[in-house]
Amino acid sequence: MTSPLILVTNDDGIQAPGLHILAEALDELGEVWVYAPDRQQSAVGHGVSLHRPLRVHPYNHERWYMVDGTPTDCVMLAIRHLLPRRPALVVSGINPGANLGDDVTYSGTVAGAFEGMLQGVPSLAISDVAYVPKHLKTAGQVAEKLAELVLREGLPLETLLNVNVPDLPYKKLRGIVFTRMGRRHYEDEIISRKDPRGNPYYWIGGSAPGNVAESGTDFEAVDNMSVSITPLQRDLTDHHSLESVREVTIEL
Ligand code: MN
Repeated sequence: MTSPLILVTNDDGIQAPGLHILAEALDELGEVWVYAPDRQQSAVGHGVSLHRPLRVHPYNHERWYMVDGTPTDCVMLAIRHLLPRRPALVVSGINPGANLGDDVTYSGTVAGAFEGMLQGVPSLAISDVAYVPKHLKTAGQVAEKLAELVLREGLPLETLLNVNVPDLPYKKLRGIVFTRMGRRHYEDEIISRKDPRGNPYYWIGGSAPGNVAESGTDFEAVDNMSVSITPLQRDLTDHHSLESVREVTIEL
């Protein structure tokens, strides 16, 4: 039996330590191919480059390539055109910084896995919740464990797993729990300054995201030193609303 092909990507760029630790962690499980952005692409969401050509260059290691595009570009090009065969698994990460609650919609890391899922391949997104991680190896070990499980058991076709790992030594983790997506407090600071020519510029961000650690959420799990796994679905339809508007008629 040929060893399963594992496609690895990220949104932090091909030089990011999290990507290297992830690729190493998955090396035993199959033939790892890396297609990653050539630069920082965090918070690009599920963006795809439609209005310019994309270039792909080999990078330092065998089966490593950098793309001058988004994580979605990387996964789409790799699966649809560049890989020698279909991957058995897509893993995106390891992101430095949590991808919890509403932040999944901004996340390039989650988008890489979302694209894998759209291409019909079981997909995982892995984040270490610390913006300056000290224990990326722990997230690597968790990634290996989950990748092995998914390669063996598969995933529902329209589901991806969004995994967040506390930044702790592996032995300090309390467990792995399945969670729902929590709710983030939007308190992004907008910084307004003047450039050297006196023109104003703006910078979004600054403060760490606040959250409500409601019961059963991803936020609660990582607050309790557990790994959070949130299954995310392709279908963004609000089925409750759809049900409740069945009776409504809107005249044209
Ligand atoms: Mn990132």
